[in-house]
Amino acid sequence: MDDLVTEGKESVLDGISAVTGITSGKVVKLDRSSVFKSIDSSAVYHPETELKKLKDAIHHIDQELGKLSRFADHHSRETTSDILSMQREILHDPDLLDRVEHLIREKKYAADHAIYDAFDFYIDKLKSSAGSFFKSRIIDLRDIRNRLVRAIMQRDVSQSFTNESVVIADEFSPSEIIMLMRHNIRGVVSDFGGLTSHASIVAGSLGLPMVIDTRTVSKVVQNGDVIIVDGNRGKVIINPNKETVQFYEQALTEQEKARTRLSEIVEKPNVTKCGSPFTLRANVEFEEEIYRVNEVKANGIGLLRTESFFLSEGDEDIDVEAQIRFYRKALESSNGHPVTIRLLDVGGDKVLEPDAKEANPFLGWRGIRVLLDRRDLLRAQLEAILRVAAEFPGQVRILVPMVSSIEELDEVKTEITRLHRVLEHRNCKASNDVMLGVMVEVPSVAIQADLFARHSDFLSIGTNDLTQFLLAVDRGNSRISHLFRQLHPAVWKMIANTVEAAHKYDKPIGVCGEMASNPLIAALFIGLGIDELSMGTPNLVRVKQLLRSLEVSEMKVWAERMNLAETTREVDGLVANWNKSKSESLAQSS
Ligand code: PEP
Ligand code: MG
Repeated sequence: MDDLVTEGKESVLDGISAVTGITSGKVVKLDRSSVFKSIDSSAVYHPETELKKLKDAIHHIDQELGKLSRFADHHSRETTSDILSMQREILHDPDLLDRVEHLIREKKYAADHAIYDAFDFYIDKLKSSAGSFFKSRIIDLRDIRNRLVRAIMQRDVSQSFTNESVVIADEFSPSEIIMLMRHNIRGVVSDFGGLTSHASIVAGSLGLPMVIDTRTVSKVVQNGDVIIVDGNRGKVIINPNKETVQFYEQALTEQEKARTRLSEIVEKPNVTKCGSPFTLRANVEFEEEIYRVNEVKANGIGLLRTESFFLSEGDEDIDVEAQIRFYRKALESSNGHPVTIRLLDVGGDKVLEPDAKEANPFLGWRGIRVLLDRRDLLRAQLEAILRVAAEFPGQVRILVPMVSSIEELDEVKTEITRLHRVLEHRNCKASNDVMLGVMVEVPSVAIQADLFARHSDFLSIGTNDLTQFLLAVDRGNSRISHLFRQLHPAVWKMIANTVEAAHKYDKPIGVCGEMASNPLIAALFIGLGIDELSMGTPNLVRVKQLLRSLEVSEMKVWAERMNLAETTREVDGLVANWNKSKSESLAQSS
């Protein structure tokens, strides 16, 4: 870390830790301005000069990709290496380059203008093709196009993300985090953002250290500044001095030691100190994450979010075969454990139709509401699920998001029955033993939990949305993030009532919201009698470590105290005490 010490004056910003972990690197401010803006399409350019610019830009990007590939190989990230070699193929694609050169020679276009036109020709072609494979290539084409244009405009320093970049923005969207991860960046810091916003969840699931809500970071830093991201304490340090660097060197050593301790727990059984088993499943969203289910020895997948698969840079994909391939991968990695496929939950901050603006998107056209209006999407997804379930008997579960009334669940059941007839008629194998569950995330469902427990096979509590709807606090709005209290006594009461209702009808109940990934809250949930917890893979082993160090009786006492708490102040007091005894339990068990 010594090379991090700079001449500049150190400054520290406080934010909120969205994803734990310490990292450092060079600042790259996310530049959303269109690279096309400054291209003057009316001017006539000299072909030889423009061809030379093109050649230099290709050489520059080729070297950059080469560096990235070496890093990816070194870290054995197979998928990243594949993406990079695909991007290099695009960079040298003869048809594409012919087209660019033709525009420069014949139409006297500037090099950047020609690149834009030629790449967009192929992007448009891919957009109209059905398969998700082709659609995901659009991302690579856009990326190479932008890199080339920026190199020509000599703006490459600002937007060339490398394995040393810490990316800064006012706020991130989930798709930006995915795009950045593809460049193997080290961390992200934003001015605003919510702890349970989808961008934070995505960064968490990919283990990318993230500090949000710094208010001013994007204004304070310059491209190329050295920065330390302390995702454990929610701090960022810009241009750190020698003492700070030494402090973080020590912290990194501790972090490594803690990682080693955790890795020793992975193989140990999921049992509490008193020998009672517990179930921990994984929340998964990306293909790149699937291999981690097995790596952390999760009991299958408790929440397979399907939005990112469908939304490829704003494009939707209803290709049944491509979906089957995606779900099959998830099932293969789950070693016979269940995989809970959530029906498409677009809306809110994951929009299907970017132009369709809504005043209150989180209360708007979301989840099952979209699917009941877009039966083509619903039918394609159900078909893919029923067909893949036939290959993995008893392993697949369907989860319906954003349900607010029982009629919506009835409609899904009707579609499933209809689909069975259609598939039988087509001589297609489809499973009859797929469990159908409901997300408890709209308060009306929690209040009618009895009814939903009777009419479904399992319930899964989405605490992120349940908290935002119950407390009327936008989960992504940093201005009111102090009011987003997941352990608010009213939220707890609603969860407790739901658990009671599920168990009255002998139906399993789980939590798949972010609360489950907090070890202390996970222990409270076990004390409350929740049957299964599902969380991002980076947190799963930490949760397991604490649960293994506690007795069920102890967790029950904690949960009973929560039942009696009436104010958030009381809850804060309880949590502070438990945190103390949690540290003692962990110290004893290690
Ligand atoms: C939730 O709302 O708690 C949940 C798990 O769903 P999402 O975060 O995808 O809205
Ligand atoms: Mg939700």
